[in-house]
Amino acid sequence: MTHKVAVVPGDGIGPEVIAQAVRVLEAARAPIELKTFDWGAERWLKDGTTLPDGAFEDLRDNFRAILFGALGDPRVPEQVHARDILLGLRFRLDLYINLRPVRLLDERLTPLKGKTCKDIDLLVFRENTEGLYAGVGGNFKKGTPDEVAINEDLNTRKGVERILRAAFEAARGRRKKLCMSDKANALTFAHGLWQRTWKEVAKEYPDVETSHLYVDVAAMEMVRAPERFDVLVTSNMFGDILTDLGAAIVGGLGLAASGNIHPGRCSLFEPVHGSAPDIAGKGVANPLGAISSAAMMCTHLGEHAVAARIDQAVARAVVEKQVTRDLGGTLTTVQCGAWVADAVAR
Ligand code: ATP
Repeated sequence: MTHKVAVVPGDGIGPEVIAQAVRVLEAARAPIELKTFDWGAERWLKDGTTLPDGAFEDLRDNFRAILFGALGDPRVPEQVHARDILLGLRFRLDLYINLRPVRLLDERLTPLKGKTCKDIDLLVFRENTEGLYAGVGGNFKKGTPDEVAINEDLNTRKGVERILRAAFEAARGRRKKLCMSDKANALTFAHGLWQRTWKEVAKEYPDVETSHLYVDVAAMEMVRAPERFDVLVTSNMFGDILTDLGAAIVGGLGLAASGNIHPGRCSLFEPVHGSAPDIAGKGVANPLGAISSAAMMCTHLGEHAVAARIDQAVARAVVEKQVTRDLGGTLTTVQCGAWVADAVAR
């Protein structure tokens, strides 16, 4: 069976890193049929299109996954195209799990003294459709000295429960430890709901050891003792912050991969970094985050052997320093992609 996958290279370094991810998928002979879409800043500047009519339905009904580069261009006011395309897909496809692995591949890459690869291997489940990102709020007397600005933190029982369940399920397949992080001591209503739901769902997973940390303590502990964590589940905003911290302790943005997932539905996989206009076109962008995202996509498609081969090749590239300059190597984007593709094919 061949899986249909939409490829959206996007802006800036997006096309550069996605070209390498595609090359690696091809080298791995993944049973995937790719179709590329030109959505991004160029298209918007040309004809004002963000997500064309019918595109959402086409993706939902005809594709199993989307491999996404990055969106963001200084020529587009307020990045309207990025909001429509990326956030639009996240919300309309109801991709409620933002999954971000934080795994150290080489001790030399962590700024944490004395920590080894064994110590840093966690999986963050960030709620991806609610919270402070729900877009509920507004301005009153905007632009005046009396301005009021509000963003509401929206949490639903259904939304909280499903992300917690997904995290518990994942913990079962790993070291069976789950930490839930919130700020229920200050956000008593919204995160009171997280607390109650977490305690209820935990009863269904007696084999999983659960713990709770307020988010400020969780941030501290990720730096002080990352070995405490196996699966970490948290809200949209806190997940955003903790996963960037996670990227920083394993080698930076260039390596970080992510999935925006709704199990069983068309889901979107993208490197965590943005379009990085400062290095676009220079051939120095690290493609490993995009390549690892493609591996996560293969897992979503049920192609576990292909995913494992790609992951191993990425780990080898890092250990053998066959990497770009952000990781201390000398390779270009294309050379690094070619090295991983060769390793996968072997
Ligand atoms: P956006 O708003 O789209 O997130 P940004 O420039 O604010 O864009 P990033 O694109 O994530 O944020 O990049 C932040 C910095 O990290 C860039 O300036 C770049 O130097 C570096 N960076 C990001 N991605 C990579 C990569 N793949 N390889 C090397 N360096 C990278």
